[in-house]
Amino acid sequence: MNILNMALIIDVSYFLAAVLFIYGLKRMGSPMTARGGIVWAGAGMVLATVVTFLFPGMSNYILMMIAIGLGGIIAWISGKKVAMTDMPQMIALYNGMGGGAAAAIAAVELYGGNDHGLTFGILAVLGGFIGAVSFSGSLVAFAKLQGFKNTTLRFKGQQVLNLVILVSTLVMAVIVITQPDTGNTISIFFVLALALGITMTVPIGGADMPVVISLYNAFTGLAVAFEGFVQQNPAMIIAGTVVGAAGSLLTQLMAKAMNRSLANVLFSGFGETTSEETEINGSMKPIDASDVGVMMAFANKVLIVPGYGMAVAQAQHKVWELTQLLIDRDVDVKFAIHPVAGRMPGHMNVLLAEAGVPYDIIYDENEINSEFESADVALIIGANDVVNPVARSDPSSPIYGMPILNADYAKNVIVIKRGQGAGFSGIENALFFLDQTRMLYGDGQKMASELIQAVKSL
Ligand code: NDP
Repeated sequence: MNILNMALIIDVSYFLAAVLFIYGLKRMGSPMTARGGIVWAGAGMVLATVVTFLFPGMSNYILMMIAIGLGGIIAWISGKKVAMTDMPQMIALYNGMGGGAAAAIAAVELYGGNDHGLTFGILAVLGGFIGAVSFSGSLVAFAKLQGFKNTTLRFKGQQVLNLVILVSTLVMAVIVITQPDTGNTISIFFVLALALGITMTVPIGGADMPVVISLYNAFTGLAVAFEGFVQQNPAMIIAGTVVGAAGSLLTQLMAKAMNRSLANVLFSGFGETTSEETEINGSMKPIDASDVGVMMAFANKVLIVPGYGMAVAQAQHKVWELTQLLIDRDVDVKFAIHPVAGRMPGHMNVLLAEAGVPYDIIYDENEINSEFESADVALIIGANDVVNPVARSDPSSPIYGMPILNADYAKNVIVIKRGQGAGFSGIENALFFLDQTRMLYGDGQKMASELIQAVKSL
């Protein structure tokens, strides 16, 4: 086949791969079509990878096949084995690998001394910098989420140290760009960029890691896109840009749903510092599962609000069993999902889908909030911050302005939690002290089982 035909096949295939990525991403927008979306995007990735073998001047075919084979097997096994609750750290790990790969491409180009001019140098160095930060930062995020000890370190002057490392890296970057054949400078540049990823991520609390992972995801996309320009590879440019844009949007949405700026997430140590307590009057009033069973079984409408505690308790299957019992008794049951309930976007949707809850009874905050007023019971299971009314009423609260589910408007509120512990933000929840609120103390799964028994016994 002549070179022209080959170039045409490569271009058309990359175009097709790009269409598949975008179509896949579109389908990922809804839980109904998300599974298919992943398959479409995966097909695009396979196509882009296979076509790359046809690139003129390619060599090292055996090495590439071994790398793809090894990576594929490891990803297949770990993907099959990973528990749903460990998904965020798995994403952190894969994301880090993407950043590392982009940095490695930059390293090959820079150490190879391929001086194609200033623009080439700037793009290679930018991609290398962002990729290296994303690689080491994502590994720290993985370690934190995996629960490795001593991964959160804070000390005075930490931000100054980060600034010094950042400025030093940028100085080295300028030297690498302007004097391309200085091997030692390139090494120092990469070591500093890797160090920056670590020192930036180490002080951030574990609970904020999903936002950080999403940010590094955007970084990785950007790094891949820059290296795509260096490599003159359209598939890398398109895939990188799509990932970069999606990651940036997700980061922004998560920060917005928590009513926090990205700077606050990155630099404040939120939820780990003691915040000012809001003065709340009243007391928390306990209730038995049997009484809650009666209340729900004879209700017209029950709204269930799951939160992080449902994930911890792995109570989703029992909650669905309870829901089915209530539906059988003609109770109108709906799930109300806050965008940042749990510890990663879509956390609750994934758990409920795993338990078999149909999508048409799962509602987002903006769709369901107006229905709390007509609900006889709001059943809160392991949720806390996302139903705290001080977000509406107390300007001094750290969560003031965060959109919340209006559970306090329901006629009766039942809260399942183990004790009087606070939520992620560390503040007291005014909802628990309201006249219409009762506390059903205990582990989420155990309490859901007791409620099932209570409803069955009626
Ligand atoms: P919270 O972390 O506010 O509260 C969880 C509650 O679950 C706690 O009050 C805890 O109380 C209870 N709980 C824990 N374990 C169990 C158990 N085994 N059984 C029953 N209850 C249990 O969770 P929310 O989902 O309401 O809010 C999420 C928070 O996380 C928000 O502040 C959000 O901003 C933040 N966040 C979310 C991200 C996302 O992408 N989703 C990303 C980063 C942060 P007790 O200990 O008494 O049982």
